[in-house]
Amino acid sequence: METSEPGRRIFLVFWTCLVQLISVWCSCPMCYCRKLALSCKEVGTLLQLTIKCDKCSYEGLWNSQPFFGKIAAGNILLSAGILFSGASATKVLRVLSHMGVALMSIRSFFRHQKKILFKAVHQLWSEQQLWNLSHLQAERESIICGGDGRADTPGHSAKYGTYTMMELRKNIVIDVQLVQSNEVEGSNHMEKEGLQRSLNFLQNTWNLDIETVITDRHAGIKKWLREHQPHILHLFDIWHVAKSIKKKLLALSKTGGCQALQGWVSSIINHLYWSVVSTPPGLTQLIEDKWKSVVEHIQNRHTGFAGQFQSCAHQPLEGRERQKAWLPPHTKVSTEVEKVLCSKRLLPDIQKLSPDHQTCSVEAFHSLVINFAPKMHHFSFEGMECRVMLAALHWNENGHRAQHTTKDGRKTYSLHYPKRKKGGHVVRKVLEDASFGYVASLLTIVEALCKGEEDDGEIPQPDPGRIPEALAASYEHPNKEDAVRARVTRFNAA
Ligand SMILES: [Zn+2]
Ligand SMILES: [Zn+2]
Repeated sequence: METSEPGRRIFLVFWTCLVQLISVWCSCPMCYCRKLALSCKEVGTLLQLTIKCDKCSYEGLWNSQPFFGKIAAGNILLSAGILFSGASATKVLRVLSHMGVALMSIRSFFRHQKKILFKAVHQLWSEQQLWNLSHLQAERESIICGGDGRADTPGHSAKYGTYTMMELRKNIVIDVQLVQSNEVEGSNHMEKEGLQRSLNFLQNTWNLDIETVITDRHAGIKKWLREHQPHILHLFDIWHVAKSIKKKLLALSKTGGCQALQGWVSSIINHLYWSVVSTPPGLTQLIEDKWKSVVEHIQNRHTGFAGQFQSCAHQPLEGRERQKAWLPPHTKVSTEVEKVLCSKRLLPDIQKLSPDHQTCSVEAFHSLVINFAPKMHHFSFEGMECRVMLAALHWNENGHRAQHTTKDGRKTYSLHYPKRKKGGHVVRKVLEDASFGYVASLLTIVEALCKGEEDDGEIPQPDPGRIPEALAASYEHPNKEDAVRARVTRFNAA
């Protein structure tokens, strides 16, 4: 975890320990009398102690926290910590409340967000975006963008859509757009709207030359880019296409007479990747012809194909290799497979599969967004927007982390058993710990914003119900009768 500078360290101090400190170590600064009376006031997490000397009537005020402007630092830092970590305010405040920590209300958290924290996030994100885009502009290289939309809830009832543009060579998020479903004709159109806004911003505000955009095969986006951005090379992410072909093949293999297909599905998908990756840029017809050759191959024909790819690239088959479960020609299974693999809708898209850059990092970024804005929680527009920006700040700082190595220099891996593998495992690289430099920068901005605030009621307005009027507290033995009488009165009033 990050360590704050020594002067900024915060401790949990129990009331009894504080009273002990005062009673044992403190005396009146004027007359050195040790008979001090304390009265305390809570403002959220802040404790304000008024200390009165019994003898010379000296009176002083002590605050348990420094102030950022007029805001007690502990209060705004708590709100900042909650938002900047993507946590739930309700949960964090409840944890602290269960511990018995004196707290501000959730309303104060929302006020902090609105008046200070959202501004801070916007400021840092804009600064970083300015920096990234200026660099891209200065390099004068054309830009390869990966774009993808994400809905805040599954299905078609999403309230917000987030569109992310990532520069794939640098693996940085260069723009995020939040679209609310009522801004467009329903949540289905949010993805296209997000892409349009993002391109408008990158091309018109920044004058950037977007050479390539890689997306999934979203129909609206395909059409819009073709009609309105013909100079952009629009390519598709292989994984998305592979996923949809695989789904169709698996469904087909479950129908009557097509079971033999089951053993071929993985090879067909591998062949898709190979067709794209093994082809030099620009030879799009060759990609298509390579792809179509798999239909011949699975029927045990390996040469004499039409088009630019005339025979399989593998060595002549020998021995057991010839004993594969080939699909017999002119049967239902081979006809249906051909329909799926060579459909009129699919083939033009096969030519447009991206060989070297994919949108998997955009997908990974969207998984990260879930950490900052869990789908089960509801957020305001600003809240959602800031949480996506925070995810982008985190990604851009941590997107290039190296793999963790042990002390003797071996790379570290971990084993996972995802549900989709049905008992199988996957091996993942363990990365170096994430860093949170962006949080330190945000906190600097928060402090400056608080200090720059004019007199507009920035002092936290404590919830009157939570703050005891004057919690009479004294380490001197109070007059017991008075105390009991006060207690009885309070109970009767309640
Ligand atoms: Zn005194
Ligand atoms: Zn073959």
